[in-house]
Amino acid sequence: MVGLEAIRDAARRIEGQVLRTPVARSEGLTQAAGVPVLLKLEHQQTTGAFKLRGATNAVARLGDVAGVTTASTGNHGRALAHAARARGMRAVICMSSLVPDNKVRAIRDLGAEARIIGGSQDEAFLEAQRLEADEGFALIPPFDHPDVIAGQGTLGLEIIEQIPEAAAIAVPLSGGGLLAGVAAAAKAMRPDIRIIGISMERGAAMAASLAAGQPVEVRELPTLADSLGGGIGLQNRLTFPMVRDLMDDLILLTEDEIAAGIRHLALEGHVVEGAAAVGAGAVLAGRLRGPGPLVLIVSGANIDPATHADILRAA
Ligand SMILES: *Cc1c(COP(=O)(O)O)cnc(C)c1O
Repeated sequence: MVGLEAIRDAARRIEGQVLRTPVARSEGLTQAAGVPVLLKLEHQQTTGAFKLRGATNAVARLGDVAGVTTASTGNHGRALAHAARARGMRAVICMSSLVPDNKVRAIRDLGAEARIIGGSQDEAFLEAQRLEADEGFALIPPFDHPDVIAGQGTLGLEIIEQIPEAAAIAVPLSGGGLLAGVAAAAKAMRPDIRIIGISMERGAAMAASLAAGQPVEVRELPTLADSLGGGIGLQNRLTFPMVRDLMDDLILLTEDEIAAGIRHLALEGHVVEGAAAVGAGAVLAGRLRGPGPLVLIVSGANIDPATHADILRAA
């Protein structure tokens, strides 16, 4: 398990390299929930998501390596590319030929090498493993790694510093690095605080694994909360037990509920991706009412502009 000391160390290590993001009170969601609702605006983080915290901490902890690698093309891949460049280190992001051009370009624009290999995510991951085994790279996974979890946990530290009276934190949940880190930090300082995980109904691997009592695979389905897709790893070591032990509640949202969250946050001036809107969606659906003050982690901004416009039009 990752504890408060490791998270405080991570906060010192990454200070000045990641933004301390602001908090805003949401009047509309406060009305809907019946308790004060505060938004932690982490979609304003550099690279557009909290993942920079974990990646920066993990990179800072490395000794002498040839570079870093991962198979994520989403927010973790971007974060790792940025963190590596900031340290003058080589980054190779492995991806399959199915990854759309705009994602490949985004990785290259961050100074990383996009290595396109094979026709599936599994093949891309094998290449990342090969780079680690044969070429001296460090493979930094997106969530199941102590330095990544500690880095994401710095978000929990910040929330308690900025909102000491917080009674509950709603956390978008996929592989569980964010929830594990935030919960470890927040509960160490505020043992009574409630940690509520939120995923989509379509293909939520952590929810299925918790129900099964062990990590299981789920079929991945298209969802507006695309950053919450993917498995937790059948060999999961850290995030599965931490989420199981630290999470108080789990809410699963429909696609319509996620869309409503995206639309509502847009009205409040926040352009966010589906994964970041699940807290707002849960409040609006009447499925998250407190206790308050209730903090919603708005986790990322990386949504295709055309998709965002379509969702706003569909209201
Ligand atoms: C990765 C991600 C999540 C989920 O984080 P996990 O650590 O995998 O649970 C939530 N929101 C956004 C925007 C993300 O990129």
